[in-house]
Amino acid sequence: MNMPLTRRRLLVRALVASLAAAATRAPGGTVQEPRTAPTNERPSRRSHGITLFLCGDVMTGRGIDQILPHPAKPHLYEPYMRSALGYVQIAEQATGPMKRPVDFAYLWGDALAELDRAQPDARVINLETAVTASEDAWPGKGIHYRMHPANVPCLAAAKIDCCVLANNHVLDWGYRGLAETVQTLRGAGIRTAGAGNDHDEAVAPAVIVVPGTGRVLVYAFATESSGVPRGWAARKSRAGVSFLPDLSAKTADAHSQRIAAAKRPGDIVVASIHWGGNWGYAIPPEQRAFAHRLIDAAAVDVVHGHSSHHVKGIEVYRDKPILYGCGDFLNDYEGIAGHESFRADLGLMYFPQWDAASGGLARCTMTPTQIRHFRVNRAPDAGVRWLEQVMNREGAAFGTRVARTGDNRFLLEWR
Ligand SMILES: [Zn+2]
Repeated sequence: MNMPLTRRRLLVRALVASLAAAATRAPGGTVQEPRTAPTNERPSRRSHGITLFLCGDVMTGRGIDQILPHPAKPHLYEPYMRSALGYVQIAEQATGPMKRPVDFAYLWGDALAELDRAQPDARVINLETAVTASEDAWPGKGIHYRMHPANVPCLAAAKIDCCVLANNHVLDWGYRGLAETVQTLRGAGIRTAGAGNDHDEAVAPAVIVVPGTGRVLVYAFATESSGVPRGWAARKSRAGVSFLPDLSAKTADAHSQRIAAAKRPGDIVVASIHWGGNWGYAIPPEQRAFAHRLIDAAAVDVVHGHSSHHVKGIEVYRDKPILYGCGDFLNDYEGIAGHESFRADLGLMYFPQWDAASGGLARCTMTPTQIRHFRVNRAPDAGVRWLEQVMNREGAAFGTRVARTGDNRFLLEWR
C-alpha cells in the first residue's frame, strides 16, 4: 500500500514547511501547538516545584552609587568621563532631576511588587559591579564600576539571595576590591557564586535551601567573549573568577561530573554564564552546544546567560530553559547616546518554575521592565509590545514565543 507512505511523506513535508515558516514568520505569527502549563496565577506549592527570579546585569555602581546614601569617591579613569557624577547629570538631563540621596529600596521600583506577587523561592542576579572602596583601579581597563560597601543594603532591600560575580567588572578595583566585594556581600547574608579567594571558592556553587522542596545550586562562569581578561581566572592559590577558557565539550565536561554529583533529588541547578558581546541578537553555535552539553551531562536545570545589554531569545531544550541573554536590568546608561535600536532600557524579570515530579520546566512568566530615573519600572505599553516582538522574532528559531497576558506580562510558550 502506497497511501500510508505518501500520507506520511506529505505530513513530514507539511511539518518541515511549518517549522520553516515558524523560523521565518513575522512577529506575532502562530506557532503550532505551543506548550504552557495552566495559567492559574498562584500555583499550589504542593504540585509545583521551585520558582526562581532571574534577571540580567544589575549595575549598582558608578552613577547609581552616587545617588545612594553612601557614595564612593566619584573619580573615574574613563577617557571621556572623570567623575561618576557625570552619569547622574547625563541621566538628569535626559529624564529630569532625581531626588538625592534615594533610599535603599528606590532602585528596585516596581520590581519589588512583582517579586512580592511572584514569591520566588530564590532571587539570583548578575551583579555587574565591585562592592568596594578600594582605589586599586585595574590598570589598562577603560571602565571601573564600584558601589560603596555601605550601600550594600540596596541589595538586601530586594532580598537578593545570590549575586553572580563571574563577570568583567568584579575585579575592576583589583584583588582588594574583589576580596571586599565577597566579604561585604557575605556579611550582608547574600551568597556569591563565580568568584572567590582561590579556585575552589570561585567554582563552588552558591547553595540556597528551599525548605521542604530542595535546594537551588548556582554555578557561575565567566568567558573571554564578555570582556573578562584571561588573567582574571582564579587559580589554586590566587583569587579570581570561575573562568571558561572556551565553550568546548571538553570544557563543559570538566565541570559536568562535579555539578551532576552535587545535585540531589528536588534540587534546581543554575548555570549562570557571562558570555558574548554587549550588542547583537545572534547566538553563536558554540553557546548553544555548550548549553545543551550542560543540560545533558551536568543535569543543569536552567542556563542563565548574560552580558548582552538587551534581551535575547529563549530556547527550551529537553524541558530545560536556556536564557541566552537576560539583558540589563539596572544601570546608569540613561541618556547615553548610541545603540538606541536595541532598547537597552527595556528588560525582563524571569520567573521560571519547575514541575516537582518531573523536574521539567512547568511554566515561565516574564515581567517587562524599563530603567528610568535609575530605577526599575514596569515597561510602558509600547515597550511591552517591542519586547514581545523581539522575544517572538528571536525565539522563532528555537520554537519559543511569548503570549502577552492582559496585565502586560508574558507567558513563555514552547514546542
Ligand atoms: Zn559584563
